[in-house]
Amino acid sequence: MIYKDIPKVQYAVIGGSGTWACEFPEDIGLDKVTVLERNMEFETPFGKTMPFKLCRIDGSMTIDGKERIFLTVPFHGWHGLEPYNTPSEQVFWVFKEAGVKNIIVEGSGGGVNHLLDPGDIIIPTDFIDFTKRRSHISAFTNKILRMKDPLCPALHSILYKNAKEEYKRVFQRGVYATSEAPRFESATEIQFYNHAGADIVGHTMIPEVYLSRAIGACYAGLYIVSNHAEGLVTNWKGSSIFDWYRECALPIGRIMIKSIAQIPAEKNCECLSYRTDVPDRITNRIKNN
Ligand SMILES: [Zn+2]
Repeated sequence: MIYKDIPKVQYAVIGGSGTWACEFPEDIGLDKVTVLERNMEFETPFGKTMPFKLCRIDGSMTIDGKERIFLTVPFHGWHGLEPYNTPSEQVFWVFKEAGVKNIIVEGSGGGVNHLLDPGDIIIPTDFIDFTKRRSHISAFTNKILRMKDPLCPALHSILYKNAKEEYKRVFQRGVYATSEAPRFESATEIQFYNHAGADIVGHTMIPEVYLSRAIGACYAGLYIVSNHAEGLVTNWKGSSIFDWYRECALPIGRIMIKSIAQIPAEKNCECLSYRTDVPDRITNRIKNN
């Protein structure tokens, strides 16, 4: 159902394959979480969005005793297995209009670092963009976006703390390489990503990480390693990626809810200072030429 008015909220959760196997947040089993609205679709300049939910976390669960209202959308806003029709831009248009300031996301990826095993959790600190997609940053901001600390350190530490309560092996440093969806990578591509400094590869951090900065929101993500990336470990006999998705849906859902509840009103981060205004005299010079 199309909603004309986008609710004003400061918090958002983008769901990914971490909660693919459950209905988020209903199946998580936390009675302090209420779904206020379902099936909220919005028209955006980039097309109609996937259905969002509007949810509330009761103040008895939050860090400051005040309720938290958040928007959530599953599957990274993708309408299918391929990111047709700029779904991330649709989602971030809604976040921009809503006034969202804190975005946490979850997903899965292939372990590029051979020390990672399927079932490990990684909360990355940086990214590399290996996609070929066109950037739509200019539809969201005319500022120059510096990519220092692209994953908000404050949100990162909250995700890490909550992930440690659910998982034994949680890595708090790492580089997420985004490759072009929907296919996985060749063994040689993975070797290249490895040499470039990547620890995990997935399809979703681009463009989310820079669109967050474009709209003035902090962003961090948590990913389960669902498989060894191609050619890296050839004798793995463990679970398939879909087994991991079944197992991780509820714990990752809990991590997301607890993390939203624990985001303080005033965070200790500099994310917004990494957005730079272009001086007027430069802007005018560009316009006049
Ligand atoms: Zn931040």
